[in-house]
Order: sequence, then structure tokens, then C-alpha cells
Amino acid sequence: MTGIRQFLTVMTSTAEITQAIAFELGALLPPGTILLLEGDLGSGKTTFVQGLGKGLGIQSAITSPTFTLIDEYLEGRLPLYHMDLYRLEASQVKYLHLAEYWQGIDFPLGVVAIEWSERLNMQLDNYLKITLAPKLIAESDERQIDFYAQGQKYGEVLEHLSTRNYC
Ligand code: ADP
Ligand code: MG
Repeated sequence: MTGIRQFLTVMTSTAEITQAIAFELGALLPPGTILLLEGDLGSGKTTFVQGLGKGLGIQSAITSPTFTLIDEYLEGRLPLYHMDLYRLEASQVKYLHLAEYWQGIDFPLGVVAIEWSERLNMQLDNYLKITLAPKLIAESDERQIDFYAQGQKYGEVLEHLSTRNYC
């Protein structure tokens, strides 16, 4: 039986390594995935989603949806719905009807990646939370990425990631 893992911590010392980790996820994640991305401005959330998009087979350049709020990329193995809640108050988020992206009724199921998911204010049964934090060393590109899998869906993916060596 394949192992199941709920927590994983990975260190990355460059943006390219962060993208390689995310690429791996992009190749493995199932339809209906919800990725909650947390971490300060500049911690690497959009950088992570760029690697994820490549892993999904998306050729288009992925940019920050800070102003568009939601960007949809439909050319990969699965659709990618990329959101950024930075400019919203928690009370405004409900008007985006984000749940439609993971209910699979109005939009084909894909991977929903939400930056600033702290503002989501929603109870979810299944999600993969990804927290990026810079090391407290000035001028260092090192980041710590913490993964937390809620629900059964992502345990095997995390187990697979844990067997890889990125450094
Ligand atoms: P956020 O979306 O969290 O605001 P961005 O991904 O837009 O952050 O910006 C992160 C910046 O930090 C990018 O310029 C990226 O190249 C840089 N960077 C340096 N080291 C790393 C690393 N280890 N992981 C991710 N990004 C890194
Ligand atoms: Mg961003």
C-alpha cells in the first residue's frame, strides 16, 4: 500500500527549486484539488503556481492575478484556476462564488490555487495548504515550504514528494 502523509516540510534555496517542487505537484494532483497558498508578499506563492502550471502542461505565462482576482488556464492536463485574495476583505470573498470552481458543475474540475487563502473564511473538507516562509537571513533566497493535507486526497502526493530530493 502506498504511504499517506499529512505533513511535509521542504527547504528550497532558489525560485527554480520552488518551481521544480510545484511542477511535481502539477503532474500528480487530482481533479478538484484545492491549494491554499499562504505566506507574506514576496514569499513565493505566484512563483510556486508558475511551476505548478508547467507541471500541468500549461504553456501560457502565469502572472499574478492580484488585479484580475481569478485567472483561468484551460490548456493543460487539468484546468488551473488561479486566484489572489490580497486586495479583498474577508467579507467580500463570498461574492466571488469560489466554491463553483471545486463543485464541478459550472466549471470543469481542475486545480484551484488560492493566494492569500487566509482571507477565504470557508470550511473545507479537502485541501492542501502550502505555507511559504523566508528564512530569517537577510539577502537569502532560502524558503521553507510547509505542506499540510486535510482530507484523504493528497496524502499519497505528499508521500511521493517526500521521497524526492530537491537540494
Ligand atoms: P508572492 O506571490 O508570494 O507575493 P512572488 O512569487 O510574486 O511572491 O515573488 C517571489 C519572489 O522571490 C520572486 O521574485 C522569486 O524569484 C523570488 N525568490 C527567490 N528565492 C525564492 C525561492 N526559494 N522560492 C520562491 N521564490 C523565490
Ligand atoms: Mg502572488
